[in-house]
Amino acid sequence: MIRTLVVSATLLLPGLATAQALEIQPVTDGVWAIVGEKQQRSPENLANNATFGLIATEDGAVLVDPGGSWKGAEALHAAIRTVTDQPVKYVVNTGGQDHRWLGNGYWQAQGAVVIASEDAVADHQNRGSIQMTGLAQFLGAELEGTEPAYASVTFDDTYTLDLGGMTFEIVHPGAAHTPGDSFVWVPQRGTVFTGDIVYVERILGVGEQSSIAEWPETFKAMEATGATHLVPGHGHATTLDQARADTYDYLMNLRGKIGALLDEGGDIMDAPAVDQSAFSYLEQFDSLAGRNAQTAYQQMEWE
Ligand SMILES: [Zn+2]
Repeated sequence: MIRTLVVSATLLLPGLATAQALEIQPVTDGVWAIVGEKQQRSPENLANNATFGLIATEDGAVLVDPGGSWKGAEALHAAIRTVTDQPVKYVVNTGGQDHRWLGNGYWQAQGAVVIASEDAVADHQNRGSIQMTGLAQFLGAELEGTEPAYASVTFDDTYTLDLGGMTFEIVHPGAAHTPGDSFVWVPQRGTVFTGDIVYVERILGVGEQSSIAEWPETFKAMEATGATHLVPGHGHATTLDQARADTYDYLMNLRGKIGALLDEGGDIMDAPAVDQSAFSYLEQFDSLAGRNAQTAYQQMEWE
């Protein structure tokens, strides 16, 4: 009902459809987090309901994640122009969620080269059609122009990009929120961009495409960078300590509680009731904690 009302309002007032909140958060010299909403995809946020990263070098800019739709990518581009004149030459897809790749077509049309892990591209190919169906529901007419478009540069587990005297180490240590998750480490700026390996401020999502087994190890590979600044997949730029508290500790508590439930022969129906209350400070806790527990149970049954 609420969604119908929003879509109707958009049709009546098309000028409002592109008005969305993308907050530009300066991180360090020539580095920004572009922080989108933490809520569900909507015609207003154009599926940019995530955090993106931007690094400007003297030879062009690198964008970490393209936005969730053609128009979402266009809105990101407008935000980028407010902080740098450098053209976006490279776009990294850090994972398989829609906001990590469905804006690719826009950037390729601007001449940017898109880079992703082979596992991420396989995930895009597997889930692209179902993601487009979902976005058609959430975005309605605002999905116009969006077509699945794939990275032209792919890698197995690591890829090094050199641009403007800076090095970008793109690393896919294993699965996390999605099978192809990668982080981008920029040593000269002490900054790591984690994509959906890290959620802060809001509860992370354990979905069917996630790996509750590999995610903690993938997190530790990211943490080993020792980064001073961290741009997460959701939430504001922060520190490794907050990332550990909101993501790693959450995952380990969930694994511990579901492991204990399995040990005592508990049923999946009991999974949503395991004690996650230490994390109730995270946004969207009430709507996602129980579902995360069920998915964790389904996956851990087979470990
Ligand atoms: Zn995400």
